Amino acid sequence: MADSQPDCLFCRILEGDAPSTEVLSTDNTYAFRDINPMAPTHVLVIPRRHVTDAAAVGAEHGGILAEMFDSARQVADQEGLAGGYRLVFNVGDDSGNTVPHLHLHVLGGRRFGWPPG
Ligand code: AMP
Ligand code: ZN
Repeated sequence: MADSQPDCLFCRILEGDAPSTEVLSTDNTYAFRDINPMAPTHVLVIPRRHVTDAAAVGAEHGGILAEMFDSARQVADQEGLAGGYRLVFNVGDDSGNTVPHLHLHVLGGRRFGWPPG
């Protein structure tokens, strides 16, 4: 897979061709506010290199996954989510996945139900 996909919304955000509100930027990840937040904090953490979704993740992605989780923890710290937060990867139509560039949802600032809707 190429580092960037020309028709991918999140690749365009990474290249500055589409707007976003930055929360955290690292060498290999970028975190920005979800445009349609489902909680007081709703941030998406993405790899700078295009990966389609969590089902496309293999052993070779171990490093970038660890960096995504590290960024998610930094986002939670920055956002003051000391009471807890939820991390979500959606995969496929049944999950509601809409953007085919791997993204980790960081949701917090309210209580969440379980099971999820
Ligand atoms: P998913 O349903 O897991 O594919 O999540 C995709 C998320 O991207 C949704 O929560 C959308 O609200 C969010 N989203 C879509 N377009 C943008 C955008 N331009 N900037 C920020 N978030 C976006
Ligand atoms: Zn992409």
